[in-house]
Amino acid sequence: MKTYNYGKQHLDFSDIMSVVGVLRSPFLTCGPKVKEFESALCAYTGSKYCVAVNSATSALHIAMLALDIKCDDEVITSPITFLASANCARYCGAKVKFCDIEETTANIDPLKIESCVTNKTKAIIPVHFAGQSCDMEEIYKIAKKYNLKVVEDAAHAIGSEYKGKKVGCCEFSDMTVFSFHPVKTITTGEGGAVCTNNEELYKKLLAFRSHGMHKDGAMKNNWEYEMRELGYNYRMTDIQAALGVSQLKKLNFFKKRRREIVDYYNNNLGLPHLIEKEFSNACFHLYPVMVRNRAEFYKRARAEKLNLQVHYIPVHTQPYYKEQGYNWGDFPNAEIYYKKCISLPLYPDLKNSDLDEIIRRIKEIL
Ligand SMILES: *Cc1c(COP(=O)(O)O)cnc(C)c1O
Repeated sequence: MKTYNYGKQHLDFSDIMSVVGVLRSPFLTCGPKVKEFESALCAYTGSKYCVAVNSATSALHIAMLALDIKCDDEVITSPITFLASANCARYCGAKVKFCDIEETTANIDPLKIESCVTNKTKAIIPVHFAGQSCDMEEIYKIAKKYNLKVVEDAAHAIGSEYKGKKVGCCEFSDMTVFSFHPVKTITTGEGGAVCTNNEELYKKLLAFRSHGMHKDGAMKNNWEYEMRELGYNYRMTDIQAALGVSQLKKLNFFKKRRREIVDYYNNNLGLPHLIEKEFSNACFHLYPVMVRNRAEFYKRARAEKLNLQVHYIPVHTQPYYKEQGYNWGDFPNAEIYYKKCISLPLYPDLKNSDLDEIIRRIKEIL
């Protein structure tokens, strides 16, 4: 019996040759491929600037640093996300204020954000869950009203559109973060990026990526540099960037096939699933469905060689965040969603015959 995981990268000969090209070149890192990948991401998303890094976690961290998030500040995000969306605020010592989700999209509920704002709030990190954009115009209005910054966690959402424009264009945000982990829509092995239209933020992101080092024309000698703040080594290698360049060329094909698969499940499976809003044209990263007895369903699926996954355990219920004062019961919609959700296989290599087989096995389990 064939095994199906919930996600899987698609790599072809052009990806392999792109990477081999770098291996045969003089620069394995700090070379031209990183810039090429960054330019390609700008061209795709419509953003002015892009900084590629070694993970989306690092990208979120330098986004927080560029906004000067500090101890005593507060950052708002969703509890239905991967840990990194919240942890980036903690890296800077800030408090994480979770805000409950909408039932139909599992995205942060814009109507609930205002009640989370205090005089310490500095930023909102909306997470585009499963690939569907949050209602960014609504979120941006709230941000403007209270003078907050907005960083989109678009780890799930490269290729997605909001109101006819690409996620990452930063029309309603200060920065947008992408992930290129292999389970995400395009991959560099490990990797991430921040897009922005703000030159000042861009310069800060560049510095935080590489030890807080600055080099400028005014310096007398080429070997001179100045460390002006505490940065990190979050650089992406040219090997990774080369993979990113060739993967990005396939993104429109990935998007098309992912949507076909989602439509196929919607039409042939009949399980409750997330709803796509009018403003969204998602490049779907996940296909979560709601099932009654999730633990039993998960176990039986594994016996049927379907390796499904739960996205996500609400972040506020993690022991670390319980120590910060959160507990079960704090965010009812997130918790109800969590108790039922399970993500089915969704990746471009799935053929319709695979989908029929997956649907057959799932109907057997139910
Ligand atoms: C995967 C993911 C991240 C972290 O991405 P890495 O590249 O693995 O660091 C952050 N946020 C969300 C919503 C994710 O799904």
